[in-house]
Amino acid sequence: MKLYEYMVKNILQNHGIPTPKGYVFSSPEGIEEFVVSIGPAVIKSQILSGGRGKAGGIKFADTPEEAVARAKELFASQLKGSKVNELLVEEKLKIDQEIYLALTIDRAHRQPVLIASKAGGMEIEQVPEELMIKRLIDVTVGVQPYTTREITRRLGVSGEVAEKLSDLLLKLYQIFVTYDAELVEINPLAISGFDVYAADGKMTLDDDASFRFRSDVPHVEEKTELEKKASALGIAYVDLEGEIGVMANGAGITMATLDLIKDQGMNARNFMDAGGGASRKTVAQAMEILLSTQPKSLLINIFGGITRCDEVAQAFIDVKNSMEINIPVVIRLVGTNEEAGIDILRANGIESFRNINDAVTAVVALTEKKGA
Ligand code: GDP
Ligand code: MN
Repeated sequence: MKLYEYMVKNILQNHGIPTPKGYVFSSPEGIEEFVVSIGPAVIKSQILSGGRGKAGGIKFADTPEEAVARAKELFASQLKGSKVNELLVEEKLKIDQEIYLALTIDRAHRQPVLIASKAGGMEIEQVPEELMIKRLIDVTVGVQPYTTREITRRLGVSGEVAEKLSDLLLKLYQIFVTYDAELVEINPLAISGFDVYAADGKMTLDDDASFRFRSDVPHVEEKTELEKKASALGIAYVDLEGEIGVMANGAGITMATLDLIKDQGMNARNFMDAGGGASRKTVAQAMEILLSTQPKSLLINIFGGITRCDEVAQAFIDVKNSMEINIPVVIRLVGTNEEAGIDILRANGIESFRNINDAVTAVVALTEKKGA
């Protein structure tokens, strides 16, 4: 389960990690008065995806009036497919340096790993590997002062700032362990004069430990409206940000389909795993959900085992007869009742593919690239 930034900051603060002075608002009301009390402010959209800064979800305001204007814009906006329901309004720090800090699990080593970089901030994905400090943590020993001294030295900080950063790292590890986190990330950790502040915060908790989540952990609903609708039908559906709507029947084939699309330079708008043996009605409802997200094209990739190709073909025809589909649709069918499925489609003037590579090549060629 992911937590919103303001929730993470509450936790950090309760454990003695400094955060900028801030307050959460669910409407523009009260923002003006608050900004009068804090001065120049940062207005931060509370959504669960990262990269808000680049997507326009973080705004700065020098005056209370400006803050209200920016807040109204953000409340009215859609950010990375999510509605902005809450804004965190914070005092704007004077940042001298942005540090990246994270604790996560290194699956290959089966150990927590502390990651730090002096090149923190919004370009962290572009930072070369040699500027990322990685230190595996032995859980029987935990993070000790000698580890934090090593990290601060390698980050190039010294004196009072190094002491504060060391102390913060010890606390961060305590939080990582006691909250059953899979990830705790502070990016940026802002160095401002001799002070350090968590200017941003991310936490993902391990759902397998949800039975023992601490009582100060709020429940966060992570599913989008469509994901909820699909889950009510018993279908696994995930919203993504690319061009091509994808429907397949099984987790493995679905992932492979996404990879093949990516290989050819495009991305999926979403994916739906209709599972094995879904009925014609369910498959039709699933396709309607996919189409409602306005992908630039649709790829249906079926390897029929329990799933019958003729049922899927018929479901597609049902949908086609009940609504206007004005995007390219590419269908690949193999497996159980393949011939019957092909015949149903052909009787409706639709050619399908047997080979997945051919199908992906065809759909990519027919799809208008996003932003193009
Ligand atoms: P993200 O893009 O979702 O990771 O959002 P962040 O909270 O990290 O904000 C993006 C960027 O905005 C940060 O990397 C900072 O450069 C900048 N930023 C955020 N808060 C402050 C602040 O209080 N003062 C200043 N000067 N910059 C800030
Ligand atoms: Mn950030």
